[in-house]
Amino acid sequence: MDYQSLAELLFPNVNKTPADLEAEFPPRALAEGAKVTRFAPSPTGFVHFGGLFPTTVAERLAHQSGGVLYLRIEDTDARREVAGAAEGLIKTLSRYGINFDEGAVLDADGKVSDKGIYGPYKQSLRGPIYHVYAKQLVKEGKAYPCFTAQDELEEILSVNKKEELKHTDWQAEAESRRREMLKAREITLDEVKANLEAGNPFVLRILADGEPDRKVKFTDLVKGNMEIPENDEDFVLLKSDGIPTYHFAHAVDDHLMGTTHVIRGEEWLPSLAKHLQLFRYLGFKTPKYLHIAQIMRLDENGNKKKLSKRDMGANMDDYTRMGYCPEAVCEYVMTLLNSNYEEWRMQNPDKSYLEFPFNIKKMSVSGCLFDFDKLNDVSKNVISRMDAQTVTSAVTEWALEFDRPFGELLRDNKDMATAIFAIGRGGKKPRKDLATWCDAKPYMGFFFDEYFAVECPYPDKFPKEDILNVFDGFLSTYDERDDMNVWFEKIKAVAEVNGYTPDMKAYKANPEAFKGNVADVSMFLRLAVTGKMNSPDMYSVMQILGKEKVAERINKMRSKL
Ligand code: GLU
Repeated sequence: MDYQSLAELLFPNVNKTPADLEAEFPPRALAEGAKVTRFAPSPTGFVHFGGLFPTTVAERLAHQSGGVLYLRIEDTDARREVAGAAEGLIKTLSRYGINFDEGAVLDADGKVSDKGIYGPYKQSLRGPIYHVYAKQLVKEGKAYPCFTAQDELEEILSVNKKEELKHTDWQAEAESRRREMLKAREITLDEVKANLEAGNPFVLRILADGEPDRKVKFTDLVKGNMEIPENDEDFVLLKSDGIPTYHFAHAVDDHLMGTTHVIRGEEWLPSLAKHLQLFRYLGFKTPKYLHIAQIMRLDENGNKKKLSKRDMGANMDDYTRMGYCPEAVCEYVMTLLNSNYEEWRMQNPDKSYLEFPFNIKKMSVSGCLFDFDKLNDVSKNVISRMDAQTVTSAVTEWALEFDRPFGELLRDNKDMATAIFAIGRGGKKPRKDLATWCDAKPYMGFFFDEYFAVECPYPDKFPKEDILNVFDGFLSTYDERDDMNVWFEKIKAVAEVNGYTPDMKAYKANPEAFKGNVADVSMFLRLAVTGKMNSPDMYSVMQILGKEKVAERINKMRSKL
């Protein structure tokens, strides 16, 4: 076969050569060790938690090494594209600290545009670039047109379909396709001409040189050393509309854009032999690969399941609605990504997660388990380290969007809200009441009459009379100017007079000797003032509410008893 003529027949309008493109997109001038990574999503909808995962790795590796993180939009499958998805994902990722240095970015009007010299960064705009390399492969006898095979056959063999089809069906399909391909390999120049003249569409296939019983050695930076069977499948490089498949676009784009580390889901591992073959055919240096295991969750029966699109916690936009702060989600992702992260955090409670020395070697080879309880734990810690102003503005901003009346109340009482969130903050053992901004209202709504409600009655064992006596005793001596010690001494005195001992030790030794203890007396006051059995520090609560409100609530409770 005269490959040169075949290439001209198939790509008559392609005039550039790979050398032209290499000159147009020269290798990046990078400092030693600087990594170039990318996020390459198909704009098919929302950002999945499972997408934030590899992207955080990509971000950390690039920015920790003084390298480049870029965004490439893989929109070659127009059927799956969702309008506005790219804009949405750029915004969502930026909430989670993923900011791209290059690639598809949002311009001033909020539209996606290119930044950087290695573009276009949208695959649908890179057609001419792919065709240059496709022509080259044909010229070298490494790719050939296939007029008979249809794109649907590709789909049949796609990973999902393979699972759906019974094994035997799949083998029969594979065999029939193999026969098609072998036939197509034999095509003559005249047959190509005739087909083109008749306007028949063709796909461009690689001419695979692999033998499945031979193995390629390969090192994945997460999974370690592996041996994979060589690729013997003449897979499609260009579909009949001239648009490249993922495989071909991956090789061309990651080469020309200078990616040093490809970080992607492990669902791509079965295609790796194809990619290695393609890089070799194209004469490109193979990038380093990190294949990241899928995120798992436990189902109702305690079995591990893939975190699927529809699962709670999959859609990153859900986190905003649920009131998770991005810092907490990022922190949680870090705990899942590096096994020594939590230890580092304990030693460095005040540092940003960005200061953590992220290490590929500490990544889990098998799937990480997604778990809301753990996320909430991490989140409580993160929020407990924030200052009161930060918490106040975050809760207010969140509530203005998702719980308007509460948001307006906080906005109109900003100083009071800040004082409330300051209770128990700072110091070695800060309070950990909030895992999400949603938790704020149940925690501190009682400060506002709009949300004040007595949650439960007094336990029956306490005589009404005692409670009323405590109210009287407390109100007759309460002075807002008292410091916390004086305030508490007064409560102790009220307790004692009423037969409730202030001496907890004595109470524990002989509970029968007393009606109760000072904690019970505090509870009488707490339930009246906050409506709850548990509340932040009562002294601070009363200081913020002010004497009048404290007395009003106690009196209201008195009239209800
Ligand atoms: N577009 C591919 C995907 O969304 C990208 C995989 C990769 O990172 O190379 O799965």
